[in-house]
Amino acid sequence: MIFAANFKTNHTRRSTELYIDALNKKLGAKSPEDKVYIFPPATALDSYEGDFTLGAQNAYPAHNGAYTGEIGLEQLDEFDIETILIGHSERREYMAETQEKVAAKFAFFQEQGFEIIYCIGEPLAIREKGFESVMKYLLAQFEGIDISYEKLIVAYEPIWAIGTGRSATVEEISSTHRALKKAINEKPLLYGGSAKPANIKEIISIAGVDGVLVGSASLDADSFSEMILS
Ligand code: PEP
Repeated sequence: MIFAANFKTNHTRRSTELYIDALNKKLGAKSPEDKVYIFPPATALDSYEGDFTLGAQNAYPAHNGAYTGEIGLEQLDEFDIETILIGHSERREYMAETQEKVAAKFAFFQEQGFEIIYCIGEPLAIREKGFESVMKYLLAQFEGIDISYEKLIVAYEPIWAIGTGRSATVEEISSTHRALKKAINEKPLLYGGSAKPANIKEIISIAGVDGVLVGSASLDADSFSEMILS
């Protein structure tokens, strides 16, 4: 299983160091086949020791240049970062990242050989229209994305389940993952949306779920390690 922690705009460099120290003390007990990723804010990127992969929540698709407020490949290379989240619904919504921009970012980081966790998800209004509308919406988020890329991991994150405390139901996850798995040629597929210690066992036992992308419940090292060791 894959367990990925997305800190979003939480934690500082210092609190990330403390978090990693705390997590490392627990990770010795995880199964060797489980893989852990941590996506801290850009200011906490660094070279850390431990049985996990550090990734970037975002970066501008350029080596360097005049992109005020952004970081590029040069800043990621400093810490040997080769994993990135692309397409998160918060970036699509709050940072106005269009499918075209998301696809350009994907192409750039694919070209650099990055491992990409590519996020897709539908808003509540689409979910309420039914399964067919959900799949149509989700598949449109693969426009311009090379799904044959060997370092692609997809994260299905229904927007209405993100940060709301309300996870999708087992049936919603199961049917959506079944259809998505076919569409992405069986690439690893994570679920994200209010995954937490209380529901992790149920979620990771669903066929077609290869792991979880976790926001809120990953912010505390004990809570996240409880999920990993569940
Ligand atoms: C996320 O935003 O990637 C996420 C899954 O958040 P949460 O776990 O808080 O719903």
